[in-house]
Amino acid sequence: MKEKTLAIIKPDAVKKRIIGKIISRIEEEDFEIREMKMLWLTKEEAKGFYVVHKDKPFYDSLTDFMSSGRIVVMILERENAIAHWRKVMGATDPALAEPGTLRHSYGFSIERNAVHGSDSPQTAEWEINYFFPKTQ
Ligand code: GDP
Repeated sequence: MKEKTLAIIKPDAVKKRIIGKIISRIEEEDFEIREMKMLWLTKEEAKGFYVVHKDKPFYDSLTDFMSSGRIVVMILERENAIAHWRKVMGATDPALAEPGTLRHSYGFSIERNAVHGSDSPQTAEWEINYFFPKTQ
Protein backbone atom coordinates (compact mmCIF):
# COMPACT_ATOMS: atom_id res chain seq x y z
CA MET A 1 0.00 0.00 0.00
CA LYS A 2 1.19 3.48 -0.82
CA GLU A 3 2.26 5.56 2.11
CA LYS A 4 3.24 9.19 2.63
CA THR A 5 6.11 10.67 4.59
CA LEU A 6 7.36 14.17 5.28
CA ALA A 7 10.86 14.97 4.07
CA ILE A 8 12.86 18.13 4.69
CA ILE A 9 16.03 19.35 3.02
CA LYS A 10 17.62 21.15 5.97
CA PRO A 11 19.37 24.57 5.92
CA ASP A 12 22.87 23.06 5.71
CA ALA A 13 22.00 21.21 2.48
CA VAL A 14 20.21 24.21 0.95
CA LYS A 15 23.29 26.37 1.68
CA LYS A 16 25.52 23.73 0.06
CA ARG A 17 23.38 23.94 -3.12
CA ILE A 18 22.58 20.24 -3.16
CA ILE A 19 18.78 20.54 -3.34
CA GLY A 20 18.99 19.15 -6.88
CA LYS A 21 21.14 16.18 -5.90
CA ILE A 22 18.76 15.26 -3.09
CA ILE A 23 15.68 15.59 -5.29
CA SER A 24 17.36 13.47 -7.98
CA ARG A 25 17.92 10.76 -5.42
CA ILE A 26 14.28 11.01 -4.27
CA GLU A 27 13.12 10.44 -7.86
CA GLU A 28 15.62 7.62 -8.47
CA GLU A 29 14.19 5.90 -5.39
CA ASP A 30 10.72 5.92 -7.00
CA PHE A 31 9.12 8.42 -4.67
CA GLU A 32 6.43 10.67 -6.07
CA ILE A 33 6.73 14.23 -4.80
CA ARG A 34 3.15 15.09 -3.88
CA GLU A 35 3.76 18.55 -2.40
CA MET A 36 6.87 20.72 -2.15
CA LYS A 37 7.67 24.22 -0.89
CA MET A 38 10.57 26.33 0.29
CA LEU A 39 10.29 27.99 3.69
CA TRP A 40 12.41 29.88 6.18
CA LEU A 41 11.13 28.82 9.59
CA THR A 42 10.99 31.19 12.52
CA LYS A 43 12.52 29.93 15.75
CA GLU A 44 8.97 29.42 17.07
CA GLU A 45 7.96 27.36 14.02
CA ALA A 46 11.09 25.21 14.39
CA LYS A 47 10.31 24.73 18.08
CA GLY A 48 6.77 23.69 17.20
CA PHE A 49 7.95 21.15 14.64
CA TYR A 50 10.48 19.60 17.04
CA VAL A 51 8.32 19.87 20.17
CA VAL A 52 8.79 16.14 20.77
CA HIS A 53 12.45 16.97 21.56
CA LYS A 54 11.69 19.90 23.89
CA ASP A 55 13.35 18.30 26.89
CA LYS A 56 16.50 17.24 25.04
CA PRO A 57 19.74 19.15 25.65
CA PHE A 58 20.05 19.85 21.91
CA TYR A 59 16.55 21.42 21.47
CA ASP A 60 17.73 25.03 21.50
CA SER A 61 20.67 24.39 19.19
CA LEU A 62 18.57 22.24 16.82
CA THR A 63 15.83 24.85 16.53
CA ASP A 64 18.43 27.62 16.00
CA PHE A 65 19.88 25.54 13.18
CA MET A 66 16.50 24.75 11.63
CA SER A 67 15.60 28.45 11.60
CA SER A 68 19.02 29.55 10.29
CA GLY A 69 18.12 29.46 6.59
CA ARG A 70 15.71 28.18 3.96
CA ILE A 71 14.47 24.62 3.94
CA VAL A 72 12.55 22.55 1.40
CA VAL A 73 9.64 20.52 2.75
CA MET A 74 8.03 17.75 0.73
CA ILE A 75 5.39 15.07 0.96
CA LEU A 76 6.85 11.89 -0.58
CA GLU A 77 4.72 8.94 -1.59
CA ARG A 78 5.56 5.34 -2.50
CA GLU A 79 5.23 1.83 -1.10
CA ASN A 80 6.69 1.74 2.39
CA ALA A 81 7.64 5.42 2.12
CA ILE A 82 8.49 6.03 5.78
CA ALA A 83 10.96 3.18 6.22
CA HIS A 84 12.36 3.56 2.72
CA TRP A 85 13.09 7.28 3.10
CA ARG A 86 14.77 6.65 6.46
CA LYS A 87 16.95 3.99 4.81
CA VAL A 88 17.92 6.42 2.04
CA MET A 89 18.72 9.13 4.65
CA GLY A 90 20.88 6.87 6.84
CA ALA A 91 21.62 7.12 10.55
CA THR A 92 21.08 10.42 12.37
CA ASP A 93 24.84 10.81 12.92
CA PRO A 94 26.55 11.05 9.50
CA ALA A 95 29.64 9.41 11.02
CA LEU A 96 27.55 6.28 11.62
CA ALA A 97 25.51 6.42 8.40
CA GLU A 98 26.16 3.75 5.79
CA PRO A 99 27.97 4.66 2.57
CA GLY A 100 25.49 5.56 -0.14
CA THR A 101 23.04 7.19 2.26
CA LEU A 102 22.32 10.91 2.00
CA ARG A 103 23.59 11.65 5.48
CA HIS A 104 26.82 9.78 4.80
CA SER A 105 27.30 11.71 1.56
CA TYR A 106 26.13 15.13 2.66
CA GLY A 107 25.76 15.33 6.45
CA PHE A 108 28.18 17.44 8.47
CA SER A 109 27.34 16.51 12.08
CA ILE A 110 24.69 14.77 14.17
CA GLU A 111 22.76 18.05 14.08
CA ARG A 112 23.57 19.33 10.57
CA ASN A 113 22.62 16.13 8.85
CA ALA A 114 21.10 17.43 5.59
CA VAL A 115 17.67 15.78 5.64
CA HIS A 116 14.68 14.89 7.80
CA GLY A 117 12.13 12.09 7.53
CA SER A 118 9.14 11.05 9.62
CA ASP A 119 9.72 8.02 11.84
CA SER A 120 6.24 6.42 12.07
CA PRO A 121 2.79 6.65 10.44
CA GLN A 122 1.52 8.74 13.36
CA THR A 123 4.48 11.11 13.15
CA ALA A 124 4.13 11.35 9.36
CA GLU A 125 0.49 12.36 9.67
CA TRP A 126 1.30 14.96 12.30
CA GLU A 127 4.31 16.35 10.41
CA ILE A 128 2.47 16.49 7.06
CA ASN A 129 -0.34 18.36 8.75
CA TYR A 130 2.16 20.77 10.35
CA PHE A 131 3.38 21.98 6.95
CA PHE A 132 0.49 21.08 4.62
CA PRO A 133 -2.65 21.37 6.73
CA LYS A 134 -5.10 21.17 3.80
CA THR A 135 -3.68 18.20 1.88
CA GLN A 136 -4.91 15.24 3.90
P1 GDP B 1 16.22 11.62 13.11
O1 GDP B 1 14.86 10.99 13.21
O2 GDP B 1 17.25 10.69 12.53
O3 GDP B 1 16.21 12.96 12.40
O4 GDP B 1 16.73 11.88 14.61
P2 GDP B 1 16.01 12.41 15.94
O5 GDP B 1 14.52 12.42 15.79
O6 GDP B 1 16.60 11.64 17.07
O7 GDP B 1 16.53 13.91 16.08
C1 GDP B 1 15.98 14.96 15.34
C2 GDP B 1 17.08 15.84 14.86
O8 GDP B 1 17.72 16.43 15.98
C3 GDP B 1 18.22 15.12 14.12
O9 GDP B 1 17.96 14.88 12.76
C4 GDP B 1 19.36 16.09 14.31
O10 GDP B 1 19.27 17.21 13.41
C5 GDP B 1 19.13 16.57 15.74
N1 GDP B 1 19.84 15.77 16.74
C6 GDP B 1 19.60 14.47 17.09
N2 GDP B 1 20.44 14.07 18.06
C7 GDP B 1 21.23 15.14 18.34
C8 GDP B 1 22.30 15.36 19.26
O11 GDP B 1 22.70 14.47 20.05
N3 GDP B 1 22.87 16.61 19.25
C9 GDP B 1 22.45 17.60 18.43
N4 GDP B 1 23.06 18.80 18.48
N5 GDP B 1 21.44 17.42 17.54
C10 GDP B 1 20.84 16.22 17.49
